[in-house]
Amino acid sequence: MGPPLWLKMIRLVIAGIIVYVIYRSLKALFRPSERVSGRASGETPRIEGEDLVKDPCCGTYVPINSSYRATLNGKMLYFCSRECLEKYKRKNS
Ligand SMILES: [Zn+2]
Repeated sequence: MGPPLWLKMIRLVIAGIIVYVIYRSLKALFRPSERVSGRASGETPRIEGEDLVKDPCCGTYVPINSSYRATLNGKMLYFCSRECLEKYKRKNS
């Protein structure tokens, strides 16, 4: 006399869960190693133009790429908006 059908079903479900868990843990094992090797191969990943610069007018940090630039007294300054740039220029001239 073999096991009843419901027991076979439960075994099948459990087997599926185990396979899924193994699959997930294998994936988790592989992902960090990719990250580590990527970190070890080079410098810190830095996207050009993504450096943050401080707006001296309102104090916000803006990505250098989308900032408004102005030279004042030979110093390069970065602003979040044209309004800040104009305001700062007016105040410091
Ligand atoms: Zn600003």
